[in-house]
Amino acid sequence: MTKDTAAGWVKIVGLGPGNEAMVTAQVQEVIAEATDIVGYIPYVKRIPERPGLTLHATDNRVEVERARHALQMAAAGKRVAVVSSGDPGVFAMASAVFEALELGPEAWLALDIQVLPGITAMLAASARIGAPMGHDFAAINLSDNLKPWSLIEKRLRLAGEAGFAMGFYNPRSKSRPHQFARALEILREACGGETLISFARDVSKPGETITTVPLNEARPEMADMRTVVIVGNKDTRRVGRHVYTPRYAPDCTPDYVSDTAADTVSGDV
Ligand code: SAH
Repeated sequence: MTKDTAAGWVKIVGLGPGNEAMVTAQVQEVIAEATDIVGYIPYVKRIPERPGLTLHATDNRVEVERARHALQMAAAGKRVAVVSSGDPGVFAMASAVFEALELGPEAWLALDIQVLPGITAMLAASARIGAPMGHDFAAINLSDNLKPWSLIEKRLRLAGEAGFAMGFYNPRSKSRPHQFARALEILREACGGETLISFARDVSKPGETITTVPLNEARPEMADMRTVVIVGNKDTRRVGRHVYTPRYAPDCTPDYVSDTAADTVSGDV
């Protein structure tokens, strides 16, 4: 390995949900040190051009080719930042890089490869809503690009029945408009129609919208590919303008809650 080769690296970074103030300082540093940026076109567009930096923007669904390219450049001594929106480990480029690494030449195993986290859409949306993920939760990608729809249905049903709050990514695309309607049907059966569902679109970007309704009132058109959908569990509720899930399960109500309830009752008497 030459000196140049040894200096190469691949850092797979998350750019957060869209607002520049939500990019971590660590990720900003990596972008400032990189010689090459690799990623899906809209994410690469977020990186300001500067002398010495080459932008490699590619289309959707070529993740492993993109990852291979990043590894090849790092092996040639480049400092490569692979960019994803949100967190790179959540339905994004980190796994694609490891898939390419697993299939690639053994020499790549010696490369300096690091994953740097970002704020994922589900958690950015949760924070705007209140605390719907305050207890156990599951994140599910509703795209059937890399898994059969039957598996998605199974996971929705079981997670709903198990009482997980859920965050859905890629909820509804033009190429599969009917599947989200089916997903809502399954959720109503598994969670009950009164369970709260929130549609968070363009979180942290201009034009952000957040709508919360009971599952019974949810319509498929409320979601698109710029929306992350959050479903609470049976205990998720409103407090003023906020939606939250308590930290405790119903049969584990802590003393401070029962005491307050008792106080309220005695106060009423
Ligand atoms: N790695 C990303 C997810 C990529 S999958 C992350 O961690 O957030 C793309 C999906 O993420 C979109 O279809 C949408 O469901 C969700 N998403 C990403 N950014 C979003 C935003 N600003 N507002 C709402 N949903 C967003």
